[in-house]
Amino acid sequence: MTPGSFRIAVGRFYHESNRLNPLPAMEDQFEVERGKAVLCASGSTLAGIVRELQGKAMVLPTLSVAAPPSGLIDHEFYDRVALEFLDAVEKLKPDAIVLDLHGAAATTRLADLEGDLLSRLRALVGPAVPIGVGLDLHAHLTDAMLRNTDICIACKENPHSDVVECGAKAARLVLDVLRGSLTPVTTSIRVPMILPGAGETASGPLAEIHAKAKAFQKVSPQIVDMSIYNVFRYADDHHIGQVVTVTTNGQHHTAVKIGSDLATDFWKNRERFKDDLLSVDDAFLRVRKGAQGRPYVMADMGDRILAGAPGDSVILLSAAIDQFTDLKGALTITDPDSARIAIAAGMGASVTLEVGGQITPGFVPRQVTGKVIGISNGAFTLSGPFHGGEASSLGDTAVLSIEERIFLVLTSKPAFSHDPAVFTSQGIDIGAMDFVVVKSGYHFTMNFSGIATPLLVETPGVGYYKKGIFSYEKSRFWPEHAVDQSEITATVYSGVRAMTDKKCKAVA
Ligand SMILES: [Zn+2]
Repeated sequence: MTPGSFRIAVGRFYHESNRLNPLPAMEDQFEVERGKAVLCASGSTLAGIVRELQGKAMVLPTLSVAAPPSGLIDHEFYDRVALEFLDAVEKLKPDAIVLDLHGAAATTRLADLEGDLLSRLRALVGPAVPIGVGLDLHAHLTDAMLRNTDICIACKENPHSDVVECGAKAARLVLDVLRGSLTPVTTSIRVPMILPGAGETASGPLAEIHAKAKAFQKVSPQIVDMSIYNVFRYADDHHIGQVVTVTTNGQHHTAVKIGSDLATDFWKNRERFKDDLLSVDDAFLRVRKGAQGRPYVMADMGDRILAGAPGDSVILLSAAIDQFTDLKGALTITDPDSARIAIAAGMGASVTLEVGGQITPGFVPRQVTGKVIGISNGAFTLSGPFHGGEASSLGDTAVLSIEERIFLVLTSKPAFSHDPAVFTSQGIDIGAMDFVVVKSGYHFTMNFSGIATPLLVETPGVGYYKKGIFSYEKSRFWPEHAVDQSEITATVYSGVRAMTDKKCKAVA
């Protein structure tokens, strides 16, 4: 078979599922694309996969399914999607499969959606068809995912500035497997700890560890990839923990050694993984002072939709209305009922509503009175760079003007609010604001770069881990539980064909 004649199936399932969000993610939250539309991806891992394969293989679309992070996915919807994936692959009979998967998706019945999908695909195509995936570095990387793939890698940066590159690399490595020049062996080292904070890869302890990983790769030509996962903290599954994977061409004893070296660095530095968050009052006082230049973009850390929280917190809204009456700002709140009432009242109407606080356990709604100044179906296109060019939806949306200085975007669906287009698509001029509030902790810094000054605000909610506030039944990890360094483990996945995975203690 000549290289150009390889037939490679591509697709995407992108969702981060937070089990602490009580509202299941239903079908209507997802953007689903089929056929040639799948190949028009932009700003995503799938876009990188398609870009790399075009001209080198026949690229066969299956489907692309994506939604902003939220609660557990309705299992019936997932099952229909899985069957559609399997049906497409069965009809296409590809030489290989390359997928863009998040890696932290779960359904109302399954803790490991990706592991299930990959197991079913593997059972269908058998061991001879290479399967590659490009994951988000917040994946909950499981044994089922590693066991059923030939290539399993993650993007390297947080915020994720390199998802397109990650997809391109996954596709390139699968092509190498097809050509016979790569026999991938992946060593996975798991540390029983999470990163409570300091999750950015460009600074702090993570920057040091990533720099060390790059140095190892420079002097070790047998290493084709090292992926360092940031742990998904909102699942409750066995083997939750910090993971480093080292993928080599053939088995190399150095993989365990190098991976364990990095794993030990995580353990030794665990107390340094802390965020520098501002209290609500301090954050607004900074906005008022304006020393770094308004507008500011405030991250509502507890209610981060990008970590799967509902986006219905009114904490910052209340502070802006009650205490900081000299400031002008814009916020989003997920509240389909209030959006519907405002839309029914019509443009220009004055409405009094109990907004937000109806999904997150422990939250309460806030009464507001405002004028309806915007009504739309919420369709918008992310401006990027993260996910730039992707179509997304807020669902039916209304904008309220409160005291002509607070612009409240009431959305029916949780919004990808790390992107300025959430506001600009609703007619809000960010440059005219003192602040805007986003439900994102990292990615917004990239998409608001040059537009607004970032501030991380400590707020309650199910989108930010703190020791002792969430219940865990299956997982054991530092700092939630008493674990020690001896529980760091290494597993060698010697390729699907060999099935000779070995487990060993990584650190004595
Ligand atoms: Zn992520």
